[in-house]
Amino acid sequence: MREKLQTLADIPTQTKDGVAFQLAANISSVKELDQALRNGAAGVGLFRTEFLYMDRDSLPEEEEQFVVYKQVAEQLEGKHVVIRTLDIGGDKSLDYFALPEEDNPSLGYRAIRITLDRTDLFKTQLRAILRASHYGNIKILYPMISSIEELDKANQILEEAKQELRVERIPFHPKIEVGIMIEVPAAVIIADILATKVDFFSIGTNDLVQYILAVDRMNEQVAHLYDPFHPAVLRMLKRTVEAAKAANLQISVCGEMAGDIRALPIWLGLGISDLSMSVMSILRVKNSLLQSQYSESAAIWEEVQRCTSGKAVVDVLNQYLHQDV
Ligand code: PEP
Ligand code: MG
Repeated sequence: MREKLQTLADIPTQTKDGVAFQLAANISSVKELDQALRNGAAGVGLFRTEFLYMDRDSLPEEEEQFVVYKQVAEQLEGKHVVIRTLDIGGDKSLDYFALPEEDNPSLGYRAIRITLDRTDLFKTQLRAILRASHYGNIKILYPMISSIEELDKANQILEEAKQELRVERIPFHPKIEVGIMIEVPAAVIIADILATKVDFFSIGTNDLVQYILAVDRMNEQVAHLYDPFHPAVLRMLKRTVEAAKAANLQISVCGEMAGDIRALPIWLGLGISDLSMSVMSILRVKNSLLQSQYSESAAIWEEVQRCTSGKAVVDVLNQYLHQDV
């Protein structure tokens, strides 16, 4: 089956009736890039940078980060890479960076909340990303934004980093695109406001589902309640897409749901054609997409929206699964 799927890597990524998709890779290390390209990834839709900060005893310096980001950008030969700024806290910790003990870490000190507090390490990372942007197609992604103040502050530090580089006469892409993860319900609700300050949205369904349903994504005890197909999640997705489209913004999905073939009619119905997923999911999703019909999707999406439970949604989607290899 894997070998059969591999033959799909180089053919155009589109539905039977010609709707083109971009299937990009989520990577958490440089090692995964080769396989992503072998699987025909359209680019890297989510580069989780946490690995650079882990398994060591001090923060990585600008030069070290720059070398890694530049290498990834160059290896992609013009395909895009979306570099997400540090997303620690919650389930991810660093030995040398004492995070406070928290009763509720997912709702606590994590991601952009840390980097807006520790602007020294944020600016170091932004400078490294900016410098690398001179060598390839790089975009910046901020995790866990939940208010316009956070976004303004992040953009202000980005501006400072740009200004420093200008003074130092170090080249970078002056119009580098900046986006935010949509992974907190508040961001969905104010997506129209946030849209005025960014170039793209990337929906992080892993956290978004956790926060919409109040279900800790790491807690086995409540794992059965973690349901990406819950009607509340689908309504939030719809609302985000409507805000993005109204603002003419690019939108993609980079949570695990993007790699779930059952969700394809939802993306088609919503008009999302940009997905980023684990490297091993790309060919499986592509195989399913090649057998899908855009013309069928509006009706499926209508039916799904009438469902009153996640189970009913999955029952509908299962009827339309295309997974023959
Ligand atoms: C997400 O939350 O959907 C996401 C892609 O980010 P992470 O899984 O790294 O939290
Ligand atoms: Mg997340």
